[in-house]
Amino acid sequence: MEINLPRLISFKTTQFTDMKEDYLHQIWLTKRFPSNELHTVDGRPLIIHQTGWHNHESGPDFFNGSIELDGIKWSGNIEIHIKSSDWYAHKHQHDEAYNNVILHVVYSHDQAVLIEGEEIPTLELKPILDSRHWSSYESLIKQTSWIPCESQINTIDPFFISMQIEQALVIRLARKSELLEKRFQLLGRNLQQLQYEVLAQAFGAKINAMPFVELTQRMPIKTIWREGKATSYPLLMGSAGLLEGIVEPDLKSMQDEWKFYLLKYRFDSMEKSSWKKKGLRPSGFPEIRIKQFAQVINQTNTDFSFFDKSIAELKQFFQLKDESGNEILTKGFQNLMLMNAIVPLLFWYGDYKSDESYKDKAIDLLSDLPAENNTIIQSWKKLDLKVKSAFDSQGLLELKNEICNYKKCLNCKIGVKLLDNGK
Ligand code: SF4
Repeated sequence: MEINLPRLISFKTTQFTDMKEDYLHQIWLTKRFPSNELHTVDGRPLIIHQTGWHNHESGPDFFNGSIELDGIKWSGNIEIHIKSSDWYAHKHQHDEAYNNVILHVVYSHDQAVLIEGEEIPTLELKPILDSRHWSSYESLIKQTSWIPCESQINTIDPFFISMQIEQALVIRLARKSELLEKRFQLLGRNLQQLQYEVLAQAFGAKINAMPFVELTQRMPIKTIWREGKATSYPLLMGSAGLLEGIVEPDLKSMQDEWKFYLLKYRFDSMEKSSWKKKGLRPSGFPEIRIKQFAQVINQTNTDFSFFDKSIAELKQFFQLKDESGNEILTKGFQNLMLMNAIVPLLFWYGDYKSDESYKDKAIDLLSDLPAENNTIIQSWKKLDLKVKSAFDSQGLLELKNEICNYKKCLNCKIGVKLLDNGK
């Protein structure tokens, strides 16, 4: 049996200051320690078959792990701490959720921990951790630049960067899909209302997204379809509270129409003040966007039919024309609608129907749309990253906002590669 003694001895003498539990979680998850000669603190041989799946909620850190201790297989949960005494400091002895812990993994063993009078098998990582990896990690996350790896990202093979961008994009779409699923359930699984609301939210963009959603809840799509699509404009404008006190002659007739529906249904309109204009160009004012939204609604079928349209048809859908044949929505706004409404809907529908082809269509659509151009994307470009389409820009936004900003470099393929390189 070959044991690399000099390597082990050098780890034992290393000081791991400010050890972090997050770091230990990732080290455990990736088994980044010599795992073929492990022993518990009481000297029993230990084999790790499965690290378990990472639990980010309350309860043990890893569920359903599998180990072999002294020749006997065990399945159960794994808890990780900096010191074994943290078990008592965190009061796990009073929490039944921890009774099925089969292994306590600690950086430093300072106290025996008992469950129902039996000492929990404990693996101490301090003697076997890779000090060079820890120092690289510590120095990486101490960086205060725009992103911690700013000065090193160019040393990474673009292949790993692309893989990380794709992973971040899928995480982003999966998160949006989960939110859409919750909304779908809250709407009583009403597919038409869901699509209507998501379209409206995208129409409201950053500033009026919530008022637009409120509008679609006060004026549900079934009411518009019951009264006929031609009524969508007065019904939406009236519900939005934007027909109050108007004097323009061309809007007066719409006000009369709204009064009729008000008597019929006793709608409760929104406050005019719910709508924001500050920071918007006149073309983005709520009155204009509601009119355009009504035009979009007017050209839909009662089931919207977005999901089975081709990419070309989806792009065409937002190319509304006025009487002179000019496009009503700018190309940029059309792309935003596709990116913020249609892509998440398609991805969610793929989950809902367990049909990957809808998810592939969402990804293909993003690859077909131009990249956004905002300050985050400009900063990525300054690091010489190629941002070819909305696929890249959406992935990079997610990477910056949800991973780099929280210094989750151990969860990032770029960070893992940098640390493995010992840079
Ligand atoms: S999360 Fe990844 S891309 Fe972001 S700073 Fe860390 S290593 Fe770099």
